Amino acid sequence: MRIFYLFFLITLNLSFIRGQIVDKKKFFLPPSGYSIISTDLHIHTVFSDGSVWPNIRVKEALKEGLDLIAITDHIEYLPHREDIPYPDRNRPFNIAKEYNKNSKKLRIINGSEITRDISPSGHFNAVFLKDANKLVQKDSLSGIIEANKQNAFVFWNHPNWDSTGIARLKEFQTYLVNKKLLHGIEVVNETTFSEEAFQIAIDNNLTILGTSDIHELTEWTHDISSGGHRPITFVLTKGLSDSDLKKALFKGETLVWFKDLLIGKKTVLNKVLKSNLIFSKPFYPKGKTILHATLQNKSATKIQLKYIGQYSFHDDSDIITINPYSELKLRIKTREIIDKVNLPFIVLNALEGPKNHTKIDFNLKIN
Ligand SMILES: [Zn+2]
Ligand SMILES: [Zn+2]
Repeated sequence: MRIFYLFFLITLNLSFIRGQIVDKKKFFLPPSGYSIISTDLHIHTVFSDGSVWPNIRVKEALKEGLDLIAITDHIEYLPHREDIPYPDRNRPFNIAKEYNKNSKKLRIINGSEITRDISPSGHFNAVFLKDANKLVQKDSLSGIIEANKQNAFVFWNHPNWDSTGIARLKEFQTYLVNKKLLHGIEVVNETTFSEEAFQIAIDNNLTILGTSDIHELTEWTHDISSGGHRPITFVLTKGLSDSDLKKALFKGETLVWFKDLLIGKKTVLNKVLKSNLIFSKPFYPKGKTILHATLQNKSATKIQLKYIGQYSFHDDSDIITINPYSELKLRIKTREIIDKVNLPFIVLNALEGPKNHTKIDFNLKIN
C-alpha cells in the first residue's frame, strides 16, 4: 500500500516536472443543445514577427486546453525573411497541422494577418483560408476581397492601436462593413480591452472577439503556470464541426474571457451564465426563517455578483464572489417562510456592453 502511494507521488511529480499535457477541466459547461469551442484566432510564429516555431504554438494550446487555434502570420510584414524565407504563406499552418496530426483535442485552421499601414486601413485577420498565398496582393482591400472569395471569416485587429488608444470606425472599415467584407472585431487584443471597439461591434453587428496576438510565449505574457490565461474566444455552436464553428462565428455567438472579465452579447452571456451558475433547491432548517441555498460555479472563471433584490444575507453583503469550480453557501434572511424566491443579481464581471453589466435572475422553489 505504502509503496503504491510512493509510486503515485513519484509519477505525480514527474508529470509536473516534465510539464506533460494533462486533461483540463472544461472552461464552461455548454447550455443544453449547444457546444462551446474555445479558440485563439490570432497567433504569430517565427515565419513573420513571432519568436517561436509553429509546433510550440500547438503545444501551448494543448497545455492550456484550447479546442482550436488559427496560425495567422503577417502576409506582408516579414522581419525574419533573411533567415527564414517564406515563399509559401501556408507553411506555418502546415507545420503546425503536421505536428498536431495525432491529437484529438486540438484543431488548427489556416489564417493570415493582412498587414498594411495601421492608418488608414489597419490590420485584418482572415481565418478558414484555403490558400494564404493568394492573399499576397497589391493592397489591403484586394487581400480582404480575396479572403472573402475563399469564404474566410475576416476581422479587424487591435482597432485601438493608435496614439489615443481609442478605436474609431473610419471610412475604410465602414466600406468593409457595408459591403459585408468584415465580420468581426477584436474587443480584446493581447493585454488590452477596448470599450470603444465593443461599442463598434454592437453598433455594426460585428462578432466580438478576444485574441492573444501572441508573439513570444503565452506563459511569459499571461502567467499561465500561476493560474493566468490568454484571452480566449468561446464560440457557442450547434455542433463540433468546422462548419458549425464558422456558422456560429458569422452569427456572432461568441464570449470573450479576458482576465476575470466575460464579454459578449447579452443572449450568449445569459445562456452561458445560466448553465454554469447552478443553485441548489433552497430550504429552511427547522424553526428558522433563514433560507439556505448553495450556488455552484461550474466555470473556470471567478464570478462576481451584486445582489439587487429585497432581502439581505446572513453571512455576506450584497457583493459576492464565487471562485472557479467551487460553491458558496448563502443564507438568505426572508423574515418569514415563503414557498418560492426570486434572486436577482448583476454579474459585475460580465459585460454585455461598455460599462453595462449583465443581469441574471434565479427563480427558485423552496422545499
Ligand atoms: Zn497586427
Ligand atoms: Zn498580429
